[in-house]
Amino acid sequence: MSLLVVGSVAYDALESPYGKVDRTLGGAATYFAVSAAFFTHVNLVAVVGDDFHSSDEAILRKRSIDIEGLERTPGKCFFWAGRYSENLNERVTLTTELNVFADFNPRLPQKYTNSKFVFLANIAPTLQRDVLHQVKGAPKLVAMDTMNYWIERTNDELRETLKHVDILMINDSETRQLANEHNLLRAARRIFKMGPSALVVKRGEYGAMLVDGKGVFCVPAFPLEEPHDPTGAGDSFAGGFMGYLAGVGRKSDSALRRAMVYGSVLGSFAVERFGLERLLTLKKSEIYARARHFAKLTQFEL
Ligand code: AMP
Repeated sequence: MSLLVVGSVAYDALESPYGKVDRTLGGAATYFAVSAAFFTHVNLVAVVGDDFHSSDEAILRKRSIDIEGLERTPGKCFFWAGRYSENLNERVTLTTELNVFADFNPRLPQKYTNSKFVFLANIAPTLQRDVLHQVKGAPKLVAMDTMNYWIERTNDELRETLKHVDILMINDSETRQLANEHNLLRAARRIFKMGPSALVVKRGEYGAMLVDGKGVFCVPAFPLEEPHDPTGAGDSFAGGFMGYLAGVGRKSDSALRRAMVYGSVLGSFAVERFGLERLLTLKKSEIYARARHFAKLTQFEL
């Protein structure tokens, strides 16, 4: 089943102890779409400026990603700059320039309006809602991401969008900030009152946790000796998670558990190199091999 995503397609400037790039293709929807396209057909909704390079468009075109919903408009692409600490665990945002996203008015191509799986990647909550409202019928599953930028600046709009989603996928500090509660399980209960029936907490090197009415399921992060750049790990996790579910067309408990593993697999590949680099050379056979490795990592007998 096809998967719809709205979010940022951006240029990023990245600095980590392993290197520095001044301008590379990034954006939450980009990482998401490239990761999800390993499993299913992806319909992308975003806006880029006239500085969007044809070689970057080719990266999307070459994959199972439909870009009819990628609008081009005069102006500059969304630009984000971030710097990571020595241990890669902390990041500071140096610059966020919304540019063409500031006046974006998303219009879904007709063929996108029947999407059954929808992911509202990290972008202004009003844009997330605009896109969701254009989807006809009841989608099978709607998930969304957000970040401190939107929690702080557009809290009311975010609360409104949350009423319409099934799964919220955010990191641990965003969970605590949104729920105003330190304990993640108690925070999940508060978030369920805002609309979602499930919460996926992305915890960086500590893995990820799915909390829903049935209980809690945890996956570790894949142990890597030399991660280079955590940018896009969360979006790649979301792409692996939603891509897998849309690919199998199910959202059963067992499918959700496998989706958590595929999310963790894609997130782990994303951090191995700078920006999108590793995802662009990744093969499907490597994804399945790492998923088998995950099964071994977590298997034990009582
Ligand atoms: P992540 O590392 O998963 O948080 O995602 C990083 C990506 O999110 C980068 O490629 C940025 O271009 C994009 N990004 C950063 N800030 C924002 C924002 N406020 N809204 C939308 N996308 C953003």
